Amino acid sequence: FFIALEGGDGAGKSTQAEALAEWIRGKGHEVVLTREPGATPVGKRLRSILLDVSSAGLSHRAEALLYAADRAEHVDTVVRPALERGAVVISDRYIDSSVAYQGAGRDLSPTEIARISRWATDGLVPHLTVLLDVEPETARERFTEAPDRLESEPAEFHARVRSGFLTLAAADPGRYLVVDAGQEPEAVTTVVRHRLDMMLP
Ligand code: C5P
Repeated sequence: FFIALEGGDGAGKSTQAEALAEWIRGKGHEVVLTREPGATPVGKRLRSILLDVSSAGLSHRAEALLYAADRAEHVDTVVRPALERGAVVISDRYIDSSVAYQGAGRDLSPTEIARISRWATDGLVPHLTVLLDVEPETARERFTEAPDRLESEPAEFHARVRSGFLTLAAADPGRYLVVDAGQEPEAVTTVVRHRLDMMLP
């Protein structure tokens, strides 16, 4: 069973990922908690290239392809093997992050970004995508871990990313759970657990 957690910076994805992993383990499942970019050895190198300040002027197409390369390696070496042995995989970010950041956020076509990711993953789609939706302003107040990452792009960029995520969720409501991530973390976890309780094997 494959769960993707999506949302802007400061939405609380890693906190939720950990809380969910613990809860699902408690139900007796093997859980693989993983993330993009940077879950594999090559992915870690790609992540450091992508997030280095010196990459600020990187061509947008090159950036999109590096995220796709990270994802291809992640799916081939971590996600699919885990799913094949019956584990529950929780990925902190997946295809939607590329569509929202490199597509809606930048000037590239979201449809083409989705197509590249479809190829990179050989069509692997999560059973459930949880979108932690939060106002960029709320996220900014919360995001103390690396505020420079939020500041490195203008507010309009984060607004486009947010609406990019919401557009994806609206197009496929059966596969998405959109949660107001401005709530307390415990309240968010409760909403997600409720949905998963009905879906998990
Ligand atoms: O979620 P995490 O903090 O690991 O993401 C690292 C950074 O990479 C974030 O600041 C996010 O804005 C950026 N990112 C991106 N495009 C993606 C995935 C992440 O710009 N497809």
